[in-house]
Amino acid sequence: MPKICLITTGGTIASKLEPETGDVTASVTGAQLRAMLHDPLEDIEITIDEFSNVGSYAIDLPLGFSLAQRISHRLDEGFDGVVVTHGTDTMEETAFMADLLVRSDKPIVFTGAQHAADEPNPDGPRNITDSLRLAASDAARGLGAVICFEQEFHAARDVTKSHTSRTDTFISHEHGKLGEVDGDRVVLHRRPILRRSYEANGVVADVELVKLAMGISDRYLRFAADNGAKAIILEGFGRGNAPPSVTATATALVKKGLPVIMTSRCQRGRVKAIYGNGGGKTLSDGGVIFAGDLSGQKARVLVSVLLGMGLAGKRLREEIEYFAG
Ligand code: ASP
Repeated sequence: MPKICLITTGGTIASKLEPETGDVTASVTGAQLRAMLHDPLEDIEITIDEFSNVGSYAIDLPLGFSLAQRISHRLDEGFDGVVVTHGTDTMEETAFMADLLVRSDKPIVFTGAQHAADEPNPDGPRNITDSLRLAASDAARGLGAVICFEQEFHAARDVTKSHTSRTDTFISHEHGKLGEVDGDRVVLHRRPILRRSYEANGVVADVELVKLAMGISDRYLRFAADNGAKAIILEGFGRGNAPPSVTATATALVKKGLPVIMTSRCQRGRVKAIYGNGGGKTLSDGGVIFAGDLSGQKARVLVSVLLGMGLAGKRLREEIEYFAG
């Protein structure tokens, strides 16, 4: 019988309304989550490991790193797979962190819910059931970390939370889902190949993400650089362009040795160095690294891991460009 470790971290899936304050907060225990499952799943041996009980808006990069270590540890202990329950807000980032740091072929499945545990028809129990089935299936081996939600599962690199409240929130834009869980059947359609995993002793949390808007100043960029940022991710326009003052500051910072990485604020498509006169080509010629179709938040997780391994200069660029595709 497959042995699966269910690691709980909090999130809406483990939250309920506190009548005195009117707040929805994470307070449901792992055992209570397990007891909510409609399917007894008698063919899977489930062990609960309570890692934390917080909303994922309170999870940061070092905590994501500790969670990845906990997953590795559980898999090394002999579990056949891991399911992590997690808030949906930053699940895609923690899942990508685990994808980068867990060096095992065994299934790692993240899941959560959009409806709290005490709502009339919560999606959490069915998402956990599907995720346990997926983690127990040979089909999920070698996929890296995935998010399983509303019957579908998605690669950590590609998946994103696309809707604030609907249960079908997780999508992978142009890349699509990897497969689906149809009751007790797991159907795999494709395998992700843009994957690589690393040995790191920690991550660097001082990586800032700056979103650009029409005519925006370079103030945030300068502030970040002056206040300890070890790298800056830009979420630029279209193919990876920026207003002139941002381009001038970004290239000046690169010259001083600070890595600056360009992603797009568009939800689909790749950045590419095309435009001169302060556009993406000027940024690229000035040493800004272009990150393909990685989202800003995924590029930030990647850079935090790579800096944690001590990579800089050419090596840092090579690894980012690998994930850019
Ligand atoms: N809305 C979030 C959730 O779905 C809150 C969080 O990320 O913890 O879990």
